[in-house]
Amino acid sequence: MNFNQFKLDSRLMAGITNAGYEKPTPVQEQAIPAALEGRDLIATAQTGTGKTATFVLPILHKLLSGARHKSRALIVTPTRELAEQINDNIRTLSAGTNLRSATIYGGVGPAPQIKALKMGVEILVACPGRLLDLASQNVAKLDNIEILVLDEADRMFDMGFMPDVRRIIKLIPAKRQTMLFSATFPVEVEKLAAETLSAPQRIAVGLTRPAHTVSHALYPVPKHLKTALTFEILKRTDTNAVLIFARTRHRAQSLAIKLSHEGYRVTSLHSDRTQGQRQSALSGFKEGRYQIMVATDIAARGLDVDSISHVINFDMPDTADAYIHRIGRTGRAERSGDAFTLVTPEDDDMVRELEKIMKQTLPREIIDEFNYRVPAPPQQNQPAPRGPKPLQHRPTHTDHKPHPKRR
Ligand code: AMP
Repeated sequence: MNFNQFKLDSRLMAGITNAGYEKPTPVQEQAIPAALEGRDLIATAQTGTGKTATFVLPILHKLLSGARHKSRALIVTPTRELAEQINDNIRTLSAGTNLRSATIYGGVGPAPQIKALKMGVEILVACPGRLLDLASQNVAKLDNIEILVLDEADRMFDMGFMPDVRRIIKLIPAKRQTMLFSATFPVEVEKLAAETLSAPQRIAVGLTRPAHTVSHALYPVPKHLKTALTFEILKRTDTNAVLIFARTRHRAQSLAIKLSHEGYRVTSLHSDRTQGQRQSALSGFKEGRYQIMVATDIAARGLDVDSISHVINFDMPDTADAYIHRIGRTGRAERSGDAFTLVTPEDDDMVRELEKIMKQTLPREIIDEFNYRVPAPPQQNQPAPRGPKPLQHRPTHTDHKPHPKRR
């Protein structure tokens, strides 16, 4: 199978070459023909499978004929990072055309977005809140939308965007093509699909299992040695870009500081950072100025950085879904990557669940040279243990902070 078989407008072939795509990925192979026929689509595809081009190419193909200077395609997505990534993808693939797109999301001043809307861009890539704001001011006009894409629908649900998504759908003409992408299908997403799509073609690629290009390993460790073990793993692993996930923004920030004290070029991505800081963290990480990015789940959702060789779960995610999303950041589009997860005895249930989903026992890695027996430092408010003082692990500049409370 190659891209010629889709009989896409010849102007798009330049974009495909420009993007460096040689052959369609499995989801593209299955979904693009149906999307080109104008059918509604429900695709179970995790990020990293090439799902963005799956909807971008049919959108561009359709918009190449018909009216210009009107918003005719709308892609709704949960985070601004994802919106920017989709827009980058559109720019690359539309290089041979004069179609225009704009991103719309909150957290930044609306002026450039309003200007782009007034110019009459054909494609909108938007997060729900700001889009509704601009639609209510009649700046974003949704009455000419012919194609609607709901991307990462499960994430939009998790983040509480469903009511906004429903409001947006009401503003769009009922006669349209709708494509819904989701890595998982909780009941609420199924309900939304049933309400908004008509006779959709269902496409499932890679279901709720991680990309096969990723290898997984668990690193059992006592809670108090997670930071020390992370340093050890990094020291002995040949990595390209490394993305580390922590459970809370405080833990992400504190780990980032400790890593920078160890001499790593490190940045962080979490909701305590301003939009400007997030953008510069992301571009610095993409361009290789930072080797390591420490992030929380929400901030790193859908992140697409080709050079990520390793994802390290400093904290085990709360759900198997979140695990799949996290490790989808590496091993993208047939590249290989490694996912390392630090596990404490508390994580046993999640480990069992992951192994069930992945239908394999995940290897446990023990680093022989690492001292797993260093005792935990005494907790504050607890009497110091009697007898000889236990060996403490080397304090870093930020170790004076008490450990954040665990859930
Ligand atoms: P996505 O799942 O859309 O986030 O895509 C993951 C990565 O795969 C992105 O960097 C895409 O540019 C890339 N990609 C998408 N389609 C192809 C393809 N047919 N061949 C090679 N890479 C692709």
